[in-house]
Amino acid sequence: MLQELLGKTTIESWQLASTGSVWYFRRMNGSEHLLQLFRDKKAFLEGHFLLSSGLHSPNYMQCALILQYPEIASELGSSLAKKLSRADVVLSPAMGGIIIGHEVARALNVRFLFCERENGIFRLRRGFEIAPDEKVVVVEDVVTTGKSTRETIGVAEQAGARVIGVGSIVDRSLEPPEFPGTFHSLLRLPLTVYEASDCPLCSQNIPVVKPGSRKQ
Ligand SMILES: [Zn+2]
Repeated sequence: MLQELLGKTTIESWQLASTGSVWYFRRMNGSEHLLQLFRDKKAFLEGHFLLSSGLHSPNYMQCALILQYPEIASELGSSLAKKLSRADVVLSPAMGGIIIGHEVARALNVRFLFCERENGIFRLRRGFEIAPDEKVVVVEDVVTTGKSTRETIGVAEQAGARVIGVGSIVDRSLEPPEFPGTFHSLLRLPLTVYEASDCPLCSQNIPVVKPGSRKQ
């Protein structure tokens, strides 16, 4: 299903658009389809949000809401795997990277490991091991500052392994992050944030919403 959305021409891949008074149908590209899917699954919300960083934003993304559908997770994983170089191991940071990392590893037919924080520092636990000669790709759900990605890269490098690439479903970075190897994402959507004291949405008196705190 998603494979169609991400590439082939289907009836859904046309979108009504306008230039001034002229309306026409245009073909949506793969990223536009994916964003539409995020919207449909309420994994991408638009409004006025208080982020965990304390900053305000006109949109909010929660990848877990799209990854709750195994079929979508699987197809996103195989789409991302096609962009990544062949590795020996896929490594992801817990929790956000686990589902998509697993699906990328399934598509590449390689091992999947995750690292998790212990006293604030990412480590391999549970007996997971990476051999020094192994090639690793790091897979995330979302890259924003790249901090957790870089920490995950550090885990692989500490084991003596070589990170040959990074993949994420969504790239929300403002500037291209510097990672070893190649960096690929399925959707580029730079994050817009405002300081609470300088937020145009606050000055329009639009109520701010803390995502996840709303009662359904
Ligand atoms: Zn605000």
